[in-house]
Amino acid sequence: MRPDLRTQQRDFLLEITRAITAQLDLGEVLRRVLYASLVMLAGRVGVIALSDKQDGKYYVRAYSGISADTVPDLNSKLHELIQTLDEGGFSREFLDSKLREMADAIDARLVQSIAMPLVFANNPLGLLIVFRSYQTAITPEDVNTLQSFADQAAIAVNNAQLYGEIYNERQRLEAIINSSGDGVLILNPDLTIQQANSAFEQMSGWRKEDLAGLPKNEVIVWANLDGADIESALGAGWAQANSQDPQIKTLNVEGDLIRRDGSAVSIGITYAPLMAKEGGLESIIASVRDISSFRKAQEMQSIFISTIHHELRTPIAIIKGYASTLGRDDVDWDREVIREKMAIIEDEADRLTNLVEDLLAASKLQTTRKLRLNLADVDLRLVATRAAARLEDSTTQPIELSFPDNFPLVPGDETRLRQVIDNLLTNAIKYSPAGKSITVGGRFSEKSVTVFVRDQGAGIPKREIDKIFDRFYRIDDNLTRRAQGAGLGLFLAKAIIEAHGGDITVKSQVGSGSTFYFTLPRDAPG
Ligand code: ADP
Repeated sequence: MRPDLRTQQRDFLLEITRAITAQLDLGEVLRRVLYASLVMLAGRVGVIALSDKQDGKYYVRAYSGISADTVPDLNSKLHELIQTLDEGGFSREFLDSKLREMADAIDARLVQSIAMPLVFANNPLGLLIVFRSYQTAITPEDVNTLQSFADQAAIAVNNAQLYGEIYNERQRLEAIINSSGDGVLILNPDLTIQQANSAFEQMSGWRKEDLAGLPKNEVIVWANLDGADIESALGAGWAQANSQDPQIKTLNVEGDLIRRDGSAVSIGITYAPLMAKEGGLESIIASVRDISSFRKAQEMQSIFISTIHHELRTPIAIIKGYASTLGRDDVDWDREVIREKMAIIEDEADRLTNLVEDLLAASKLQTTRKLRLNLADVDLRLVATRAAARLEDSTTQPIELSFPDNFPLVPGDETRLRQVIDNLLTNAIKYSPAGKSITVGGRFSEKSVTVFVRDQGAGIPKREIDKIFDRFYRIDDNLTRRAQGAGLGLFLAKAIIEAHGGDITVKSQVGSGSTFYFTLPRDAPG
């Protein structure tokens, strides 16, 4: 090798060393290695093939002096070459003949090829091949220099590949954390926040960017906490216990979290320690679940039990009382008294039947989430008139009707719509004082009809308006407590109206009364 070539080679070796330290992008590393080797060896064509992690085969990853359509052919020749290598090595002649084939496939003018394996820590990473259009003798000294060049290149390639893998792994983890429906917080051992995901952002009302670096306690502010939070577990040697035991001991806490805007949400947190390879706590992963629906279900269950208990007890007590009175042997009741008492027993039995039916309908809605409707043309004015007449018998409140004469028929399920009107009227009676009139009326447009029920009762506070349509929800006030009801009427009314493609709303003024409206489309619900 000529002295000026040697100096050039040293320079290129330096260039590769710089590539190792400066570049972590695999494509860029390969480009630099290829460029350096082509100049160094005065090559015409250069190819770097790397072993694929998935199938172990070699594929061309960088090339110079050839067009892209040559690559598939080169790849298949490389596969044959490497397969023979795996099957017990090959002779110099075999390698030369394969390289010859490759050179011929590229360009007949290529007369010499030099192949250098890229090996890192005894692991073959790939192959660097340079083709020349002239032939020169290669001395053992040249081979040494070339090999140390290839070794440096292999380090650079290995670093870039590792970096790429770590980068991909990190992206994968980020994607998993960010797509998780549960909130995730990664805490440092001093309990400051390292990272949070989008679900936690939603749950807590804090923005992810604002969370990094904050002490956990500034963000996880408990209103009610069952048990103790992570601090006391850490104090009691939770991390140490975990570093000695391969079985991870997680810590679960539950309570109400005060969100950034001051509202509360029930959450459960599972803390898991991430131990460093060399022992010691690296970080703590906190997965945070919104358990409000679970809590709500529990609450619902207890409301359900107490409502049912209360609502069943009254009619049953009345029925039992009258039945045993009538059954007494020592009294001879006259027919009128018997008729009266039997009518009361019948009314109470009806009330029980209605309650059971409402309960069944509510539980069915809970599981199937839809109601089946028997559609026909319904005269809501007639339905309302009959309901008013029926209910007027049992109340001291006059019920006025306010429908236009040409009020149209609408497609609907008459039985269910009757149930809605009955319920709104019964509520108006229950929740307004004796003597105050109630109005049921309607109006219509080209597209829809609206029925309203107006009372002059206690009214409904604003904060309760949305809740009264919830299952088992009853306003906690004296008026409601005195009135019978299971809190199912409006829930079912809403479900029925929505199944018709309509909606139900209420306007109310505390002290002066409420008006419930339901609107139905005049086209049959789809
Ligand atoms: P309930 O069986 O308790 O009457 P509903 O679902 O029909 O159940 O109503 C839910 C709650 O809404 C009632 O408990 C009552 O507190 C309130 N409410 C309903 N209608 C009226 C009204 N017209 N005026 C005032 N409050 C009402």
